[in-house]
Amino acid sequence: MTESKKWIYMFEEVSAAEEYAGSWEGVRGLLGGKGSGLADMTRAGVPVPPGFTVTTEACNEFRKTGKFPEGQWDQELAALKVVEEQTGKEFGDAKNPLLVSCRSGAKFSMPGMMNTILNIGLNDEVVEGLSKLTGNPRFAWDSYRRLVEMFGTTVFNLDDETFEHPMAEYKAGKGYKLDTEMTAEDWKALVVSFKEVFKKHVGFDFPQDVNKQLELATKAVFESWMGKKAIDYRKATNISDDLGTAVNIVTMVFGNMGDDSGTGVAFTRNPSTGEKKMMGEYLLNAQGEDVVAGIRNADPIEHLGTRMPEAYNQFMDITAKLEKHYKDMQDVEFTIERGKLWMLQTRNGKRTAKSAIKIAVDMVNEGMISKDEAILRVTTDNVDTLLHPQFDEKALKEAEKNGTYLAKGVNASPGAAVGQIYFDADKAEKMAKEGKQDTIMVRPFTKPDDVHGMIASRGVLTSEGGATSHAAVVARQFGIPCVVGATAVKIDLEKRVMKVGDKVIQEGEWISVDGTTGRVYAGKMPTSAPSIEEQTELLTLLTWADEIAARPDIRVLPTGEKSRGLMVWANADYPKDARRARAYGAVGIGLCRTEHMFFETERLPIVQRMILAETVEERKIALDELLPSQRKDFDGLFEAMNGYPVIIRLIDPPLHEFMPDEEKLFEEVVTMRVLKQTEGLGAKEKLLNSIKAMHESNPMMGLRGVRLSIYMPQIVEMQVRAIFEAAADCTLRGIVVKPEIMIPLTGTVNELKWIQPRLVRIAKTVTEEKKISFSYKFGTMIEIPRAAVTAAEIAEYAEFFSFGTNDLTQMTFGYSRDDAERNFLVQYVAEGILPKNPFQTLDREGVGRLMQMSINDGRKTRPDLEVGICGEHGGDPDSIEWCHMIGNNYVSCSPFRVPIARLAAAHSALKYSGRKIAEDK
Ligand code: ADP
Ligand code: MG
Ligand code: MG
Repeated sequence: MTESKKWIYMFEEVSAAEEYAGSWEGVRGLLGGKGSGLADMTRAGVPVPPGFTVTTEACNEFRKTGKFPEGQWDQELAALKVVEEQTGKEFGDAKNPLLVSCRSGAKFSMPGMMNTILNIGLNDEVVEGLSKLTGNPRFAWDSYRRLVEMFGTTVFNLDDETFEHPMAEYKAGKGYKLDTEMTAEDWKALVVSFKEVFKKHVGFDFPQDVNKQLELATKAVFESWMGKKAIDYRKATNISDDLGTAVNIVTMVFGNMGDDSGTGVAFTRNPSTGEKKMMGEYLLNAQGEDVVAGIRNADPIEHLGTRMPEAYNQFMDITAKLEKHYKDMQDVEFTIERGKLWMLQTRNGKRTAKSAIKIAVDMVNEGMISKDEAILRVTTDNVDTLLHPQFDEKALKEAEKNGTYLAKGVNASPGAAVGQIYFDADKAEKMAKEGKQDTIMVRPFTKPDDVHGMIASRGVLTSEGGATSHAAVVARQFGIPCVVGATAVKIDLEKRVMKVGDKVIQEGEWISVDGTTGRVYAGKMPTSAPSIEEQTELLTLLTWADEIAARPDIRVLPTGEKSRGLMVWANADYPKDARRARAYGAVGIGLCRTEHMFFETERLPIVQRMILAETVEERKIALDELLPSQRKDFDGLFEAMNGYPVIIRLIDPPLHEFMPDEEKLFEEVVTMRVLKQTEGLGAKEKLLNSIKAMHESNPMMGLRGVRLSIYMPQIVEMQVRAIFEAAADCTLRGIVVKPEIMIPLTGTVNELKWIQPRLVRIAKTVTEEKKISFSYKFGTMIEIPRAAVTAAEIAEYAEFFSFGTNDLTQMTFGYSRDDAERNFLVQYVAEGILPKNPFQTLDREGVGRLMQMSINDGRKTRPDLEVGICGEHGGDPDSIEWCHMIGNNYVSCSPFRVPIARLAAAHSALKYSGRKIAEDK
């Protein structure tokens, strides 16, 4: 007989698991997060009830064949024997019974998504024995009814109601309100009806054979990996279906043995704010999920200190050690059986964005982790969430007075949510997805089946449960603003309304949920972006991010020379945007679009006059009028960016954008003709004719960008003069200017050859006139594939490249963005024809490849060629990573995304630390 594979590891065998799996990561994959945590705690001498883990490999075999793999069951029985020895109890022995739990646990925690069955090993005989042995028949029968119930609901997928109904009926018959009123006799009677219910729905008797119970439970846990809830959750969190779950068989310890027993959950730091203070809840005389479900209101963990000081102190001691060991905030489960503490789980706790950032920074300051580790722990999504809108302070104060304030609950997950309320997950999801509404899911409490509705919603409100309830944990993980336990809110699921006092809010009406304060308001409250200056931990973290990206040896150039990582610049058209960009940490302006300046009301008539001019002289007169205001625009920008480079793009859009709408004008002319209004008619007719003459059938590919500059050079000549005059004036005022003139839409080097020397001449003239010198550059956008392909030649003129990846993506794919996003792109992504929307995430294989080529070719011509990106991709973490890899000097994005980009730049730097810039695929 060949020896079968090892499918089972005792908690004591963690070293063997490590040897087999090769790393701790591997152990987590093999034994799951829960199993590896239990084994690791056992190794550290923490009190963990004896037990063992069936590996994820066994689960994956089971999924393939529908059967336990060869040897697993024998090993499981043998392991159980070991546990019997360790506990001195026997599985199925009425005189001294061993009871176990059968718990799911995958590599990544999926709270509540899979099955766990408690109290396995009880049957009609054992329950009597347990009752005698403990002298506590009430406890024994309560445990037994829990087993029958859990077996029905989890192993055989019966509805919770199947058992809730008879229980409610029984209690009503006795006139009881609370479970605690139930006596031993009552539980015993209920077991009888539970077993009947079981048989009726399942088709056979509740299994009395304890080994059969264990076998069915193990299978059920394996199967729950492929349950709908679990699959949905994995989809939402990007966890692979291939990992499988482990099964943990753990000796039962009982929190329901009286008032010297209890059970609880806790976080070693506040998962909502990050504050360094234990946050948890416990229930006396309770078992298992009673706390997590938030069904009974639990006591804060501090109270345990006075109730059971010894167990409490031991608990605080152990959890402090666990945090040090894992170097991260822990989320733990414990049970106290007759005064003795048992740890049942530890894992890195889920947390809000705010908490993630605070904990990372605090742990660096406490010397627990390095700055690099802190940076890697915070995601760009965390930063994004933190900078999301919050409710307007003034409006909040108003609301307290004007009666729109409704109720306060527990602030479970921060952020501002405004939406229409729905009372079940399916409806909330449907209205969000199909109805395209902003929805808020409102429930008494949530269960794992509700997750899809929560994810689809802007916010979640529950009337029951605390900070560790299901709703709170899930909302924090997904960054959904959430208020739980708003007890003043009375929800009527039948009538589909919620009431607070005499205020009634119907399904579909708007409310506002403030997850930061726990307050709930009627109607839509205005929101505003938070100020970054107040986020001190974030600012600290971003400074570290900048340090990492600035390490002089983080990248290696193709020449072998070492180089720093990415800088983050911003796109800003106005001085106020530039100031914001600086406050957010941008160290340059990568794109200032000048055409906005032409649209301002006082200027537009002059611009139109300039465009319609019939002679060059006429045009110059109009442009001379525009010059002072353009100069002023640039002056403000240079001043705001004192010391940093500012890239100004010369006029780009087609001229018709500055003209009145042709159709509207035509209507006006016709109306005037009909009404025989002659005054001004001639001028309008002339204007109409000019606009008609300018008509292009595809203006985005027509007379614009550098083509327009060549066709009508006076405009850009004026712009360059304005830029250099402003730069000179600023220099005289002591401001350090670094203007960079960007020529848009170049397709061939000959365009630059034609236009650039004229512009350079103007720059020279101005600096000579003003007797001043400062450094400046002339460069181009790379947004036409031909430019990318001929980058070597283009770099003979251009001193810098800036990838305009919006246009470059449009032209490389041959898609018009608006049409693509409106029509077929969604389907393309759904069908897997494209992995992602290429306008959001840079297409590395196509567009990205073109960028890579142009950088390499461009730098062959001009080794110090400065390269950036100014399309929307400049603020997208995945695209930023690519820019790091191919050797961009900077990325430029909207000021609001600068913090995200700074973190993304550091992430890329760490991920590819010291690597050579990729010259080709
Ligand atoms: P989940 O992943 O859904 O939290 P768990 O496997 O952790 O599921 O178990 C559910 C609940 O049952 C938890 O509160 C846990 O502490 C409790 N529990 C599990 N095993 C035991 C045991 N052997 N003794 C006492 N309580 C247990
Ligand atoms: Mg569970
Ligand atoms: Mg658990």
